[in-house]
Amino acid sequence: MKFKKSLGQNLLIDKNIIKKIVKIGNLNPKSNVLEIGPGTGNLTREILSYGPKKLWTIEKDYQMYLKLKDDNKKNKSFKIFNEDALKFDEKKLLAKNMIVFGNLPYNISTQLLIKWIMTPKWLPWYSCLVLMFQKEVADRIIGKISSNAYGRLSIMANFRLKIKKEFDVSRNCFFPKPKVNSSIMTFYPITNIDYKNLKIKNLEYITRNFFSNRRKMIRKKYYKIFKSDEVKNALNLDLNLRPENLNPEIYYKLSSLL
Ligand code: SAH
Repeated sequence: MKFKKSLGQNLLIDKNIIKKIVKIGNLNPKSNVLEIGPGTGNLTREILSYGPKKLWTIEKDYQMYLKLKDDNKKNKSFKIFNEDALKFDEKKLLAKNMIVFGNLPYNISTQLLIKWIMTPKWLPWYSCLVLMFQKEVADRIIGKISSNAYGRLSIMANFRLKIKKEFDVSRNCFFPKPKVNSSIMTFYPITNIDYKNLKIKNLEYITRNFFSNRRKMIRKKYYKIFKSDEVKNALNLDLNLRPENLNPEIYYKLSSLL
């Protein structure tokens, strides 16, 4: 089989890592599972070995879709969609508390994470996400204030999810071998979020704007978004600061007041 670089096809071939990843999901015969980008089914087979109630998979590549569909045609609890996960409507799955796995192309994981954080209804349809990221992106997700890694991704993810970096995965565990190392991260929805008035779209909008130039003071962006001094005065906000020096709480407050 020829692998498509455009679809980020780097298969996970290390058996121990595959086992370690799936173990995190604590699967049992009652589990509803979703796997994104199953490829040739390396993680899929390990997931199925736990005998989950249902496993849905979404694979964009038509050849891989056909192959996996055929491999599992006798399995009633297995279902595969030949779709782009970024455009997929999870309401189709009609299940709650889904456990989600994805060893995905790096550009897709981040976009999916944002999509799933921005789910309008909270709590969301998933109870646990187990996702592979490029190590640098993983560091950004857990990035702390005033560091280079701090930004839109960490502020948004930490607002709604409890995040844990599980372990690093060497590039040698994949075929074809990617250029960079990876990390497995898990995410659990936070049930009792403060800021009941906060619209998640506003948090996305503000962090995207503020961090579009992290070297600049926030003054210009602030006025672009808020127009007057009212919010700044209410929060006692210093407009000479740079975006990476405002703590997450400030971003949550700004978003609630927008
Ligand atoms: N999970 C498998 C395959 C990893 S390669 C393993 O660990 O071995 C990444 C997979 O994601 C490929 O099969 C690729 O075709 C698929 N993919 C890429 N973009 C996708 C998208 N937008 N939606 C769904 N699947 C996608």
